[in-house]
Amino acid sequence: MAGTKDFDLYRPSEEHDMLRDSVRALAEAKIAPYAAEVDEEGRFPEEARAALTAADLHAIHVPEAFGGAGADALATVIVIEEVARVCASSSLIPAVNKLGSLPVVLAGSEALKKKYLGPLAQGDAMFSYALSEPDAGSDAGGMKTKAVRDGDHYVLNGVKRWITNAGVSEYYTVMAVTDPDKRTKGISAFVVEKADEGVSFGAPEKKLGIKGSPTREVYLDNVRIPADRLIGEEGTGFATAMKTLDHTRITIAAQALGIAQGALDYAKGYVQERKQFGKPIGDFQGVQFMLADMAMKLEAARQLTYAAAAKSERVATGGDKEDLTFFGAAAKCYASDAAMEITTDAVQLLGGYGYTRDYPVERMMRDAKITQIYEGTNQVQRIVMARNLP
Ligand SMILES: Cc1cc2nc3c(=O)[nH]c(=O)nc-3n(C[C@H](O)[C@H](O)[C@H](O)COP(=O)(O)OP(=O)(O)OC[C@H]3O[C@@H](n4cnc5c(N)ncnc54)[C@H](O)[C@@H]3O)c2cc1C
Repeated sequence: MAGTKDFDLYRPSEEHDMLRDSVRALAEAKIAPYAAEVDEEGRFPEEARAALTAADLHAIHVPEAFGGAGADALATVIVIEEVARVCASSSLIPAVNKLGSLPVVLAGSEALKKKYLGPLAQGDAMFSYALSEPDAGSDAGGMKTKAVRDGDHYVLNGVKRWITNAGVSEYYTVMAVTDPDKRTKGISAFVVEKADEGVSFGAPEKKLGIKGSPTREVYLDNVRIPADRLIGEEGTGFATAMKTLDHTRITIAAQALGIAQGALDYAKGYVQERKQFGKPIGDFQGVQFMLADMAMKLEAARQLTYAAAAKSERVATGGDKEDLTFFGAAAKCYASDAAMEITTDAVQLLGGYGYTRDYPVERMMRDAKITQIYEGTNQVQRIVMARNLP
C-alpha cells in the first residue's frame, strides 16, 4: 500500500499514481452507478461501503500496527478525491473514518488504539466525530455537553449536532466539558460507542447536498463509560480536536477537488457533443475560456492540497509542526471555493440541461456547497489562516 514518505512537496510518487488508477476504476465501476439514486433517495451508499471495504480503501489511514493499510496522507487524499469525483456522499466514508478516529491515533493510549482502530481497519465499524452542538458551531469551545467523573467511569450528558454518519458509525469521538471553569482547557475527548446505554440519534437532516451521508444529532443521556475511554489527558480534548482538523481539513479539500474534477470532466465531454449555431459549443472561445479557468483553478487547488498533505504526513510521522495549521485551512478554503465556482460553471456550460437532475452537474454543485461549511466555515478558515500566517 502507498505508505511511502518520500513523495516530495508537490509530486505524487508512482505508487500514488497507481493507487489513483485503481481507485478511479473501482469508483467508476462500483460507486458511480448508484450516485444519482443515492442522492435522489437520500440513502446511505451501502454499495460504496461494501466496495471500499472489500478493496481496503474505507479507512486506508489506519496504521499497519493496528491492522490498517498504513497509507500516508497523500494516498488518503487521492482515495477521497477519486471517490468524490463520482459520488461526494460516498467519499465521506473514508474521510469521516479518518476524522473520527484521528483523535485516537494522535492522542489515544495503546489500549484504546488496539480496541478501536482494529475493527475500523477490518471494516467492522465506522468512526464519527462529534464536536459541534446546536449552540456551538464556529465557536466549538462554547460546547455544553458534560462529562462528569464518577469513580472508574465518566457520565456524559448533552446533545451533539450535525454528526456525519451518525447512526451508521459504531464509534464516536465525543468532545465534552470536564471542567467548566477552564473553557477550552476544560474540554476532554472520549470514545463513545453506539451500543452504550443512553446513546440515541435524531432524524436525518434534510440537506441541500451529500444526501447519501446521514447527518444526525447524537443524544447522550446519562451515558456511563469506563474512564479508560478518555483520549489522552483530561483537559486536552479541544487541543486534540483542533490538531485533528489541521490534518483532516485536507481531506475536505480532497473531496472538493474530486467533486470539481467530476464536474469539469463532464462539462468537457458535453461541450464537444452539444451543437448550437451549427457547431459544437466547445468551438466558441467564450466556452473555451470558461473551461480554461475551471481547469486552472482546479489545478491550483490540487497543488495546494497536495503540499498540505505532504506537510500533514511529515507532522504525523514526528516532524516539526511546520505551518500545517495554515496549510490545512488554506487548502480546505481554497479548494472548496474553487469547487463551488467550478461546479457552478459546469451547470452554466450545460445550459438548461445542467439545471436538471438528468445530468450529474446539478448534484455536484449542491454537493460542493458543504465543503465551504463543514470542518469550519471558510470564514473560520480565514480566521485560522490570519492567526497562523506563514
Ligand atoms: C452536512 C454537515 C455535516 C457536518 N458534520 C459534522 C461532523 O461530523 N462533526 C461535527 O462536529 N460537526 C459537523 N458539522 C458541523 C459544522 O462543522 C458546522 O456547521 C460549522 O462549523 C458551522 O457552525 P454553525 O453551523 O453553527 O454555523 P455558525 O457558527 O452559526 O455560523 C453562521 C455563519 O456565521 C459565520 N461566522 C461565525 N463566527 C464568525 C466569525 N467569528 N467571523 C466571521 N464569520 C463568522 C459563519 O462563517 C457562518 O457563515 C457538519 C455540518 C453539516 C451542515
